[in-house]
Amino acid sequence: MLTIISEWIYCPVCGNKTRTMIREDTELKNFPLYCPKCKQETIINVQDMKITLAVSKFMYAAAIDNTITAVFQCLSAISVKGFFMLFLRWFLLVAFLYLT
Ligand SMILES: [Zn+2]
Repeated sequence: MLTIISEWIYCPVCGNKTRTMIREDTELKNFPLYCPKCKQETIINVQDMKITLAVSKFMYAAAIDNTITAVFQCLSAISVKGFFMLFLRWFLLVAFLYLT
């Protein structure tokens, strides 16, 4: 008799059991996992019963770009903005490549 293993997914934020189950043959990509306890939604990937957080490079790059835009909206009066912009972009690019 073939038995399919299945288990509950635990919240990556608070460790609480969620109401979502996976089976050993479940495959999820960018699945929005909702936790009823801490009410957080986490995007996850599931393969071979292994759960990983789905933080794509695209999302990360978009977040960095938003930060740069926000910083330079504050510094818009400074005349050397262009130079700093180049420097900061270079610095963040190096940091980004180093971290990933
Ligand atoms: Zn939670």
